[in-house]
Amino acid sequence: MIEYSKIEIQVDLAAVQHNYRELAKAGTRLIAVVKSDAYGHGLAQVFSALEATGADTFAVGYVHEAHQLRESGCRGRIISLLGPVDSDDMTRLAHGDIIPFIGHFDTLRALADRWPAPEDAGCPGTLDIALKFDTGMSRLGFQRDELPELLDFLRAHPQLRPVMASSHLAASDEPDRDALTAGQQALFFEIVDALRGAGFEVEANLSNSAAIMGHEACRYDTQRAGIALYGGNPFAGTARESLGRNLRPTMAATAPVLHVHTLEKGQGISYGHTYVSDRDRTVAVVGAGYADCYSRGLSNRGFMNAGGVRVPILGRVCMQMTCVDVSALAGQGVDLHVGDRVHLLGGDDPGRVDIHELASWWGTITYEALCVLGMNRRVFLK
Ligand SMILES: *Cc1c(COP(=O)(O)O)cnc(C)c1O
Repeated sequence: MIEYSKIEIQVDLAAVQHNYRELAKAGTRLIAVVKSDAYGHGLAQVFSALEATGADTFAVGYVHEAHQLRESGCRGRIISLLGPVDSDDMTRLAHGDIIPFIGHFDTLRALADRWPAPEDAGCPGTLDIALKFDTGMSRLGFQRDELPELLDFLRAHPQLRPVMASSHLAASDEPDRDALTAGQQALFFEIVDALRGAGFEVEANLSNSAAIMGHEACRYDTQRAGIALYGGNPFAGTARESLGRNLRPTMAATAPVLHVHTLEKGQGISYGHTYVSDRDRTVAVVGAGYADCYSRGLSNRGFMNAGGVRVPILGRVCMQMTCVDVSALAGQGVDLHVGDRVHLLGGDDPGRVDIHELASWWGTITYEALCVLGMNRRVFLK
């Protein structure tokens, strides 16, 4: 494959390990969520760094991601949060070493048909499954009123062994929506109680990163930690922001300067001349654009970091290039040349670009900025 991108993503695995330890302090036993290539950080490298730190359970989205994780040598428990979506996934589950989330009767029936009862000849044994409940997200999961039918089904199909019960919170990162979180928590409590009352000894988990950090009542046997492992503070910009003060950034991104020139007073720059200069400025053309997952939404809004100095984007982000105003560098004793690298994310203080800022200029959340930027070529710092 031809690699066009000159962007380089630096992943700080020690920072991921640090964040894991921080969250483990706050939330006891963690399930490390490493879906979508570990939020753009690299599945194989992140899981092994986390395994070395003591993580024993990992959650991905699709069953094929789970399979890939197992193939990369993961010895711990692996959960597929989406469960099987096609017949290939059903085949991958046959090894019995992936725990699928199941939230609907059709999937449950399909699994029960495939796994014969334990006394049948040639049986592959029981399959461990995680039951997913919808307590307010209105996305996937069994509803509370389906519980009696679910319990009947499980009693009739002992080849499927529910080892876990889960639900997902819709707004645990929004302090003014605490009532919604509390309502979901109460409903989940009721469901777990009913399952255990019926003799199913499930491991319960409800918390995501925000709940681990800010909602102690949502703590069950295990907690599912995602964004905070990657340095994203789910409470950034809220009254609970300080709960994330010990998290460390895990990703930086650099791109090369392709050209430096003067933009004269009155000249427009880039497509549509959406920026016209009010004075002479020095412009650096940087080799990063929307084809490299550096969003066009950053046009005239975002900043880069050149040698520790914040430099604003001028005009529209192009497919493989973006122009920044580097006029301020001369006064700061920073020399910038073609071939030098500037930071799209991270870099030295005082101009360091933080993932929360980048996401807000971009008009999105840290999750998307990390997943998307992470599609570029990565290098790993140990
Ligand atoms: C992605 C995901 C998580 C992790 O959420 P964060 O907010 O990133 O901590 C937890 N549970 C489920 C079901 C998820 O899909």
